[in-house]
Amino acid sequence: MRIGAHVSMAKGFPSVFDNIKSVGGNCAQIFSHSPRGWKFKDVQKVEEFRERYKKEDIKPIVIHNSYLVNLASLDKELHKKSMENMRKEFETAEILGIDYINIHPGSNKDVKIGLKRIVQSLNSIETKAYLLLENTASGIGSEFENLMYIMENITIKCGVTLDTCHAYAAGYDIVSSLDNVLDEFDSIIGLEKLKLIHLNDSKFELGSKRDRHEHIGLGKIEIEGFRNFINHPKLQDIPKILETPVDERRGFKENIEVVKSLVE
Ligand SMILES: [Zn+2]
Ligand SMILES: [Zn+2]
Repeated sequence: MRIGAHVSMAKGFPSVFDNIKSVGGNCAQIFSHSPRGWKFKDVQKVEEFRERYKKEDIKPIVIHNSYLVNLASLDKELHKKSMENMRKEFETAEILGIDYINIHPGSNKDVKIGLKRIVQSLNSIETKAYLLLENTASGIGSEFENLMYIMENITIKCGVTLDTCHAYAAGYDIVSSLDNVLDEFDSIIGLEKLKLIHLNDSKFELGSKRDRHEHIGLGKIEIEGFRNFINHPKLQDIPKILETPVDERRGFKENIEVVKSLVE
């Protein structure tokens, strides 16, 4: 199975390989720069990264966009910065040959206006990189229909990341009716568009609309929920990335071990 985690690349892009191997993963997600700032450094060690990416069995590698970016914003300054940031992300992915850029669609009190703004924004960017739209716990992106609307209106190559915590918090009951949720996903978006799973337990209950990640099996999805989820025939082959907390209870290594122990 493809299981990994969101790891640091603070020591340069090639450090992602050692960081993910040290926790027992074989795929990874990174930030290309500090996610709480706008600044990018020049992309360095490109050859070394590309070399290792070819050689190592660590695939895919995904860039997660900055938390500050909001492509749905009507605030001119914020939107301008967000667009510059996205262009840089795409550029970085192209330079490094990274598979996917994962983004949160954006937020706007008016979902319709927000969706249009996102489409317009993405259509003004030219890139060969592959975009992943992530489902959210509330607002734009919390309904599969929102993601589909964006996908069918943009020209960039695009798929979907399903975050288990976000789906559960948004009200999709992946614990007691996983088949129904997947059928719904399939009829609205198409399961072939599901390229990545963010595997996180949820601190809060079904439909809470609150985005708080928990260690695998220690939240409301519970261990049996994950056993059922990761062994589902339609989900087995999709890469899974943990964005679970790192605290005194567990780190990524322990959560990856838990996930592996559930494989049937
Ligand atoms: Zn996520
Ligand atoms: Zn989250």
